[in-house]
Amino acid sequence: MNPKKIKLMDVKNLSILWDDGKEHLISLLKLRKLCPCATCLAEREKQSKSYIPVFSENQITIDQIKQVGNYAISIFWKDGHNTGIYEYTFLRLIGENSKD
Ligand SMILES: [Zn+2]
Repeated sequence: MNPKKIKLMDVKNLSILWDDGKEHLISLLKLRKLCPCATCLAEREKQSKSYIPVFSENQITIDQIKQVGNYAISIFWKDGHNTGIYEYTFLRLIGENSKD
């Protein structure tokens, strides 16, 4: 499954149109919360289930999106964080679970 089009809808949402015609709207807050980089993964592992992360505006604002090979995108956040590689399969999964 590959995205046909990825674009920022507004300051809070990313829209992904897939090659099977499905379209998902994923909130940037959710994307940042699920950042798959090693640093964030380790950070999340340390946190308890009841921990509520607080993000600054810069942490949930996208500066740039770059394609990584033909399987992923990397997201450059305004706060300078850019180590998260979001694989298409992962994005698809988030999208499927973003009914809200
Ligand atoms: Zn990260």
